[in-house]
Amino acid sequence: MSSENVACHCCDLIVEVSTLKPGCKAHCPRCGHLLSSQTSNAIDKATAFAASALLFLLLSLPFPFMAFQSQGREQQVSLLDSGYDLLILGFPLLALLLSVFILIIPTLLLCAYLVILLPLRKGQVYPWSYTLTRLIFSLHPWAMAEVFLIGVLVSLVKISGMADLVIGMSFWAYVLFALCLIATITCIDRLQLWHSLDQAASIQRTPPAHRYGGAMQQQLQSCHCCGLIHDRNAHSCQRCSSPLHPRTPFSLQKTWAFLITGALLYIPANLYPIMHTRLLGADEPSTILGGVVLLWQHGSYPIALIVFIASILIPIVKMLALFWLAFSVEAGHQNRVNERIWMYRMTELIGRWSMIDVFVVAVLVALVQLGGLASIQPGLAATAFAGVVILTMLSALSFDPRLIWDNLNQRELNSIKSGQAPLNDLLDEIN
Ligand SMILES: [Zn+2]
Ligand SMILES: [Zn+2]
Repeated sequence: MSSENVACHCCDLIVEVSTLKPGCKAHCPRCGHLLSSQTSNAIDKATAFAASALLFLLLSLPFPFMAFQSQGREQQVSLLDSGYDLLILGFPLLALLLSVFILIIPTLLLCAYLVILLPLRKGQVYPWSYTLTRLIFSLHPWAMAEVFLIGVLVSLVKISGMADLVIGMSFWAYVLFALCLIATITCIDRLQLWHSLDQAASIQRTPPAHRYGGAMQQQLQSCHCCGLIHDRNAHSCQRCSSPLHPRTPFSLQKTWAFLITGALLYIPANLYPIMHTRLLGADEPSTILGGVVLLWQHGSYPIALIVFIASILIPIVKMLALFWLAFSVEAGHQNRVNERIWMYRMTELIGRWSMIDVFVVAVLVALVQLGGLASIQPGLAATAFAGVVILTMLSALSFDPRLIWDNLNQRELNSIKSGQAPLNDLLDEIN
């Protein structure tokens, strides 16, 4: 691609990203945020991976995913049945979460990729290609195929002592689907894709004139979805039609609202049982922490550690990090900027992994239904914990990291105006 000016998503600095060689990456010089990366033949590779992923996903639907055998009785579950079974058993929320995060969103994502990439390979682009690209980037955080797979592995370990387990064809197809989906997402770089669409449509974007510094200081704003720079008074993006705002509207209010609700839900999520195991009529409730302790006592140390990290450590660390980020912005803190940006990136990255325990419960409930012999029912904590994960993800998505730099930007502007220290010296001083 030829060079394009973008405002960094994390610090608002306007940076010129020029043509990258395959395998190269461009980072923001101020905060280190990854602005763009180049994969050789990215469009061809992503098309091949997306088509393969869709094929493997289709193959994973009709065959048994797993089978559970105990005392001559067998229960089989397929991916399509799992959501339906949960619905029939009276757990519509779990059924919805399972279907949306592991089937519906990944399918939409892959179809959107193929509809954009297949014509783009031949240099064709349609008006709806831009709308679909926008949809793709908003769906990315909610496609949880790989999180579900880890959840399945944890479920296998949890019930391995109760009965014989048989892995079905669909399981292996789903593993290949998840790998191809990750490869598709990895191949595609946001900036490169937008640029390829413009190139194919022969559109030359000319952003308003600017100098070194933050976009907002210069009465400019960048599109949160495609990064195109606009004048402050523009209302929607010329390229992707996203609404434009110099900063995410009500960012702190939304961050606090989602965070506080998530934190409140975290209390019942830990106090109440996440699932009930009924063996020969005896009910054995287990909480999130109780499940970890049980896995540890049975010697499944790595799995106990995974569940502990995903279900206990990550939600607590994430909530504390979001609390600190929102509080520090509200209080106008100007120190430890790089640490706070790093904290924000980690929060964005790790949040979805807490969904493991919810998937474990959904898989076990769909699989273990042998009437009076053995059955597993979800507890109140399963719904509460799913709420915690979704709300903390929404809280992280609502937080605008550029707010961290806003106080700093003011100082930088003042220092430039009064001929004081240049930016690098100022950053050294602050960090
Ligand atoms: Zn930056
Ligand atoms: Zn845009």
